[in-house]
Amino acid sequence: MIIGVPKEIKTEENRVALTPAGALELTKRGHEVYVQSTAGAGSGFEDQDYEAAGARILPTIKDVYDKAEMIMKVKEPIEAEYDLIREDQLLFTYFHFASYEPLTRAMIKSKAVCLAYETVELPDRSLPLLVPMSEVAGRMAIQEGAKYLEKPSGGRGVLLGGVPGVRPGQVLVLGGGVVGTQAAKMAAGLGAQVIIMDISLSRLRYLADVMPANVQTVYSNEYNIRHYIKEADLIVGAVLIPGAKAPNLITRDMLKEMHAGTVLVDVAVDQGGCIETCRPTTHSDPTFVIDDVLHYCVANMPGAVPYTSTIALTNATLPYAIQLAGKGWQQACRESEPLKKGLNVVRGKVVYKGVAEAFDLPL
Ligand code: NAD
Repeated sequence: MIIGVPKEIKTEENRVALTPAGALELTKRGHEVYVQSTAGAGSGFEDQDYEAAGARILPTIKDVYDKAEMIMKVKEPIEAEYDLIREDQLLFTYFHFASYEPLTRAMIKSKAVCLAYETVELPDRSLPLLVPMSEVAGRMAIQEGAKYLEKPSGGRGVLLGGVPGVRPGQVLVLGGGVVGTQAAKMAAGLGAQVIIMDISLSRLRYLADVMPANVQTVYSNEYNIRHYIKEADLIVGAVLIPGAKAPNLITRDMLKEMHAGTVLVDVAVDQGGCIETCRPTTHSDPTFVIDDVLHYCVANMPGAVPYTSTIALTNATLPYAIQLAGKGWQQACRESEPLKKGLNVVRGKVVYKGVAEAFDLPL
């Protein structure tokens, strides 16, 4: 198959959909890989790295779209790309259709085949192409939180690990899924005292088994949240209710109960946030203060660490890309239920229930 990798053109996006290692895996299987010049630069990969892996470099985004049968991307196509997409072309990328109707309509019009990373689903209902970015965001939440706890950054001036003779920082993590688990692990590794909350008792049992002694599990309810926010230096929001807006677990009135300079990192901001006062921010202007409490609510946290994020993402996407390239999308989706669940728009028709329902379109 002929595979094309355009450079991402969405603002602040430095990831790329394929690493040189991935290009090698595809070319050695007999596929042709075309990469747009400098597509990997933001993640630390040069054109010659791709060429050494058997890929060819094309100068413009149009050249890549014109050539490829399958386009591999990271973010959904933006308006400037809509007209480049050809009928029958396979697009394998994040789309998040349900949150943006113009994109859905443009892809229907294009008659392309849109296979969305975010809806590829394993039999245990986990989403293997979302997990790596949650892992990155969870770990980053503590790195960012620690930074903003420093006084010059606006925080309380607390060192998360403490020092001998000084109590360590107190971290509260709301939600014990992928993001929350990684956040708790990182905070514990720094020596902080960590409370992790969830409403799933089985998840809390698992966490109690695997976490170190400086992580305690507490059932998530308003009473417990009100109790623990008073002590917390850093609070991480990491809840998810699939297909719904995140619940507001921290309400505006609770900010007054916190120490001045407490840092809130709401990772769930992309689903509306679990902190009432949260609103999406960007890497260039990541924080704001309400009632002396510092909020960090960046909606695309992994974008700040493109080297790590690109490798983590492509580790997860490559096995699926190899199946699609080797068998063609129809055969690959017949043989793989997880891949079939990734199909969202096929040749002018919406085929994913959540997207059809979001915009009242026929399935
Ligand atoms: P997940 O499904 O693995 O975990 C969510 C957890 O929240 C589950 O364990 C669930 O039981 C728990 N939960 C639900 N209601 C709760 C409540 N009332 N109190 C406490 N816990 C509750 O999801 P995840 O992969 O960890 O993702 C968490 C959020 O982070 C999602 O909204 C995801 O989109 C977001 N995310 C954001 C970024 C970013 O850059 N900002 C990056 C990756 C993921």
